[in-house]
Amino acid sequence: MLEIQEQETANSAIPQAQDTHPLVELTHVEKHFGHLHVLKDINLTVNKGEVLVVVGPSGSGKSTMCRTINRLETIDSGDIRIDGNPLPQEGKELAALRAEVGMVFQSFNLFANKTILENVTLAPIKVRHMPKDEAENLAMDLLARVGVDSQAEKMPAQLSGGQQQRVAIARALAMKPKVMLFDEPTSALDPEMVNEVLDVMTELAHEGMTMICVTHEMGFARNVADRVVFMADGKILESGTPDEFFEHPKTDRAKDFLSKIL
Ligand code: ADP
Ligand code: MG
Repeated sequence: MLEIQEQETANSAIPQAQDTHPLVELTHVEKHFGHLHVLKDINLTVNKGEVLVVVGPSGSGKSTMCRTINRLETIDSGDIRIDGNPLPQEGKELAALRAEVGMVFQSFNLFANKTILENVTLAPIKVRHMPKDEAENLAMDLLARVGVDSQAEKMPAQLSGGQQQRVAIARALAMKPKVMLFDEPTSALDPEMVNEVLDVMTELAHEGMTMICVTHEMGFARNVADRVVFMADGKILESGTPDEFFEHPKTDRAKDFLSKIL
């Protein structure tokens, strides 16, 4: 009975609630900085709705890998696809790609001379050609979602680090990205502000956002990740469920890494 049901579901013409096609695909990606080989045969697929957490020692290539996905870094060889499409080289297509792949960095990178509201409306108006009032409505909704709508008229420097990082998340979401990349979004924050940012990320994950998160927050990795990838020396050494990675790491590098941070 169960088998028949599954088959009927699979053959159904009605779109499934859980449509899990690959959104981000890296195949045989190689990258050097001069003589330094920073990405070595990286193969990675992230499906729609999946939350991938990337961990690993400093210098292992985590940031570089993230930056190649929206082409802030070029690659030497291999292939990167977003929703089936190869990364565009330049121009309008590249701007459109950057809109589809939202990125939140360790340093909040807000425009210091623009208000919080302007920070969020700028790209939708410029890149998506959204009318100003529509962009402002969207921005206020997103700022409310991350809990900083009361700060909309302030300048970034008037906000705490945790608030600024939540604005940075709202700003990325304003472009309606298909996938969100987070590169150590809480590493520069005072400890008491870490959770307010992780809470927003957790909520996004539960809403079905596809996410790639580089983080040292192992609680987040355990509780929110669908899959954990461990990188060292430019290679992906392990990829598995949080339980597999934390309870049964396979490589000595991962065991050593975990012994130092847990
Ligand atoms: P992680 O994020 O895991 O700490 P990174 O991707 O930042 O690692 O760095 C991987 C390696 O590449 C490091 O050895 C780093 O020093 C080097 N690297 C990163 N960016 C550059 C760059 N723009 N030029 C030269 N070397 C770089
Ligand atoms: Mg890094």
